[in-house]
Amino acid sequence: MNRPFNFSAGPAAIPEEVLQRAAAEMCDWHGSGMGVMEMSHRGKEFISIYEQAESDLRQLLAVPSNFRILFMQGGAIAHNAIIPMNLSRGGVVDFVVSGSWSQKSYKEAGKYASAHLAASGQDSGFTSVPEASSWQLSPDAAYVHICSNETIHGVEFHELPDLQALGSQAPLVIDFSSHVASRPVDWSRVGIAFGGAQKNIGPAGLTIVIVREDLLGHALPITPSAFDYKIVADNNSMYNTPPTWGIYMAGLTFQWLLQQREGDLVGVAAMEKRNIAKAERFYSYVDSSDFYVNKVAPAWRSRMNIPFFLRDESRNEAFLAGAKANGLLQLKGHKSVGGMRASLYNAMSMQGVEALIAYMQEFERTSA
Ligand SMILES: *Cc1c(COP(=O)(O)O)cnc(C)c1O
Repeated sequence: MNRPFNFSAGPAAIPEEVLQRAAAEMCDWHGSGMGVMEMSHRGKEFISIYEQAESDLRQLLAVPSNFRILFMQGGAIAHNAIIPMNLSRGGVVDFVVSGSWSQKSYKEAGKYASAHLAASGQDSGFTSVPEASSWQLSPDAAYVHICSNETIHGVEFHELPDLQALGSQAPLVIDFSSHVASRPVDWSRVGIAFGGAQKNIGPAGLTIVIVREDLLGHALPITPSAFDYKIVADNNSMYNTPPTWGIYMAGLTFQWLLQQREGDLVGVAAMEKRNIAKAERFYSYVDSSDFYVNKVAPAWRSRMNIPFFLRDESRNEAFLAGAKANGLLQLKGHKSVGGMRASLYNAMSMQGVEALIAYMQEFERTSA
């Protein structure tokens, strides 16, 4: 099938092999006579899908054995409340605000805990993040929250902060919704990683939470049982019905990822290499052009989400219409930032990046 290239920020493109396999198994999963959406979550068929998905994700991200993997619902936005409910003990929690998503998390946490702004990139228009040594971390914070990839502003932490080196004993919470599985995770620096699936893993409706075991069991009494991470962990994500279809689709994506190779590299390491190459190609094209511009400081540029602008913004609609006619979909920027945004998730090939650049060159040429 010759599908267009889809640059959506989310819900986003899924590898075509994954969609094909899901289509082939839609009505009858492995001879069971049932589609995955029709199965009991407690039956042996679905339990096997769930266990495979969990162990594949553990392998893919090299998740240590003292972390639990939870498959939940609510999306990252619900977890903006669920995390302070589970971790804050009603005390102080620190936030580094690097764009819209961490800003949202910071505001929401204030309902359940004493949310403290340790640093903000707002002065730069969220084109960079203050140096970690300048963060005003609280001595008694229950955790420090960052969004490790800001999907809207296109700002990414290429290295996770080492809180201990900054004098903090607090666990680090990362919202990795939009770059999960695009690169390895340094678990020695993480307490909880969470994210919605619909950017880089599968369909909307599944939220992945990877939590260090010692952080379980401290939820505020008001925490809904279905969102108490300890209850969810004790019930292997089956306290309530988990998003079975999302887990199945994510599982197919994990298998696809485990098979990806770049030279000697396999899985997420291979994806990281590919993602670096795609992002470098795109940024260097934009930087070399007088027609397009990206405003994010080079050290903070996201590999996954690249906002860019036409210097002549009156050409925006024509740009988008022409892109669509050329099989390049969903390039419109987020309404709060404007301009364009190219999301280069794992499912986007270098071929797609080259097709976008070729179109951008042609658009510039014919606009002269
Ligand atoms: C998309 C996104 C969210 C919101 O996820 P929902 O599924 O809508 O709750 C939160 N954080 C980041 C970094 C995102 O990219």
